[in-house]
Amino acid sequence: MLSINSIKNGIVIDHIKAGLGIKIFNYLGLDSVDFRVALLMNVESSKLEKKDIIKIENSLDIDYTVLGFIDPNITIDIVENEVITRKTKLNLPEKVTDIIKCKNPRCVTSQEAHLPHVFYLSDQCTGEYRCEYCDNAYTAK
Ligand SMILES: [Zn+2]
Repeated sequence: MLSINSIKNGIVIDHIKAGLGIKIFNYLGLDSVDFRVALLMNVESSKLEKKDIIKIENSLDIDYTVLGFIDPNITIDIVENEVITRKTKLNLPEKVTDIIKCKNPRCVTSQEAHLPHVFYLSDQCTGEYRCEYCDNAYTAK
């Protein structure tokens, strides 16, 4: 059993909504790396809700925009010599490019393959995104 209590140098992705940890784990390609990683699922949280945690014993280039889109409540801790040196709270990104696709068959992005799929955050409270070209709401969540 891998020791997961602490990491020396690396990244802790914390406060992941329970169930989303595996999605982020796979998105980051952590199933095929050669450094130490741990995915903890259904950890008791202080708010009495369950959460997932990912611990990575390495530096990693993480796209905070994509992670914030997957789960805006995530915090990312950078650990150096067993001390958290930077803590970042993610947010819903204002704009996402080529993360989701517009499903409107009449949208220009459905007809012109070279166009980037750009969505902007139209409602901060509900987390609704709309296509920049046709205003179609993204609803797959
Ligand atoms: Zn569209």
